[in-house]
Order: sequence, then C-alpha cells, then structure tokens
Amino acid sequence: MKTPKINEKFVCKNCGTLVPPSKSSCRNHCTKCLHSMHVDETLPGDRLSPCHGLMEPIGLEYKGNKGYQIIHKCLLCGKKQLNMAADDDNQEEVAKINLRTL
Ligand SMILES: [Zn+2]
Ligand SMILES: [Zn+2]
Repeated sequence: MKTPKINEKFVCKNCGTLVPPSKSSCRNHCTKCLHSMHVDETLPGDRLSPCHGLMEPIGLEYKGNKGYQIIHKCLLCGKKQLNMAADDDNQEEVAKINLRTL
C-alpha cells in the first residue's frame, strides 16, 4: 500500500502565512514559524486525527539518512511527532529551536 502524499498549500494557524506546496517533500509545517497542525493520527500523511491542534516545534533530531527532523508537540493533546525539515524552512527558526534544546 502506498502512503498518501499530501502536498498542498495551507494557511498557517500560528502566523497566518500562506505556505506554498513543497517541491521536495510532503509539506506539513509552516516554513516561516515551523508550526504544524495535528492532522495525522498514526502515519505521516494519513490525515485521520480529529484533533486539529496547533503543533509547536520543540526540538530537532538528526537522522543520518533523512537529515534534520523537527519534533512537533501538539498544544491540545500533547502528542509528539517527527517531521522532516524542508529545504525552504526558515533557517533562523531552525537555529532557534536548536539553541532551545541545547
Ligand atoms: Zn507559521
Ligand atoms: Zn493533538
């Protein structure tokens, strides 16, 4: 079975930026403030979660084969999720998360 690849533009719930679809990967977080939305239940892209809470970037994890992953935490239910960082993510914000976790 193929994982659904959902790659669509959306308006960020946190900062109001219209985030364009990604060229390289499945877009799931804001490129400006890096916030995400809790829409996936078990698999990335399944869009089965009824929560729809705002997910705050709380940390970074480096995975050799995949590069940087952003750790998102849902402000409503507390669920944590890893999301691959995109090439066009705001590098200043990425650096800020990195500093916070040191
Ligand atoms: Zn945003
Ligand atoms: Zn949630």
